[in-house]
Amino acid sequence: MDGLRERIEALPGMPELLGALDGLPPVYVVGGAVRDLLRGAQPLDLDVAVEGDAPEAARALAGRLGGEVVEHDRFGTATVTGLPLELNLATTRRESYAAPGALPDVEPAGLAEDLGRRDFTFNAMAVGLSGPDAGVLHDPHGGRADLDAGLVRVLHDQSFIDDPTRLLRAVRYAARLGAELEPHTDDLARAAIAAGAPATVSGKRVRDELIDLLAEHEAPTALKSMRTLQLDRALHPALEADPERASSVMLAAGETGADPVLAALAVLIGGDPAALGSWLDGLALSRDERDRVARAAVSGPGLAGVLFTEMPSSELYDLLRREPPEALALALASGAPGEPVLRYIADLAGARLAVTGDDLIAAGVRPSPALGRALEETLRRKLDGQVSGRDEELALALELARGAPG
Ligand code: ATP
Repeated sequence: MDGLRERIEALPGMPELLGALDGLPPVYVVGGAVRDLLRGAQPLDLDVAVEGDAPEAARALAGRLGGEVVEHDRFGTATVTGLPLELNLATTRRESYAAPGALPDVEPAGLAEDLGRRDFTFNAMAVGLSGPDAGVLHDPHGGRADLDAGLVRVLHDQSFIDDPTRLLRAVRYAARLGAELEPHTDDLARAAIAAGAPATVSGKRVRDELIDLLAEHEAPTALKSMRTLQLDRALHPALEADPERASSVMLAAGETGADPVLAALAVLIGGDPAALGSWLDGLALSRDERDRVARAAVSGPGLAGVLFTEMPSSELYDLLRREPPEALALALASGAPGEPVLRYIADLAGARLAVTGDDLIAAGVRPSPALGRALEETLRRKLDGQVSGRDEELALALELARGAPG
């Protein structure tokens, strides 16, 4: 089968794995790994479907191959670590959706049904690993042909209604694979969006898919499709997928040390950060991540109007010291000149005085807010090159703290 068997056998640790399957129920490589192998890409971990008890198979394999088993509660899944390739084992299952957008109810079933529950044809393929089935491609939905033709195709008409996160997955894969939505799938996507399906999904599920989408190298292309389909507006009326701005901010993130995904999220909510505050809360990011996104969206664009080339370092420091790197990336993407931002990052962000409050107290200054202000002003003057070295800093800080004319 076009070298598929050889490619599977060439995966790290595969000969040992194939030799350890004796007596176990039939197992298959499934999902993204099959897609990637057919494209000639190397998977980093393997999703393995077991037509039987996956945790039991995981324990047997770990025993035979010398790995560790981590069992997950949901859906009878287990991971075997400590092998050349991490194995994620799952019992083959069928799924049904009690309510659109909710997580599915699952029960064990054969491989055919397990493939039939999946999102797109190119993710609904399996390669057998057991006995004579080793290396055989199972492709009941024409995934290989769609992969070759560059088409994202759902398996049935209800797919996007059952699970609207597949809309985000569709544009993500299309961007990554240089593919497009097959015309009927495109119609179904538009219909699901027009029917408001994306609003039925929990914030956390949206977050997981959106983060994966924004982490793609081709994220701007995916955002462009989101905008064309009006998938952004369907997630929240104030959400704006702006591929050009996202592309600039992702480039700028590399210069400011920002997390490109958080910076791109800030762009998404940038049209109306106030209206999108509770939507952002619903994504349940960590507190720190949420604050960086919100702050960047609010202050990043405004910074572009107040930063100027060769502005005094003390002023620059005051403007940027409380801003996360994502805000600096947004400022650059909004047209801020590079010079002050890069100078801040290189020279100012980590600037410290050689003297501390303890030095001033040891010299007889009483602890008070004035002491803190004196140190801050000393740092500003140091940044502007008016003092240098510990002695000058100490003399100036003492003078300022004691209220002598500065
Ligand atoms: P990636 O390279 O993006 O990680 P992947 O295919 O491994 O691709 P996962 O999100 O890890 O993606 O999902 C593994 C497999 O599970 C998919 O290939 C697909 O078959 C199935 N799958 C994942 N999410 C869904 C979903 N929302 N609906 C249906 N099937 C899904």
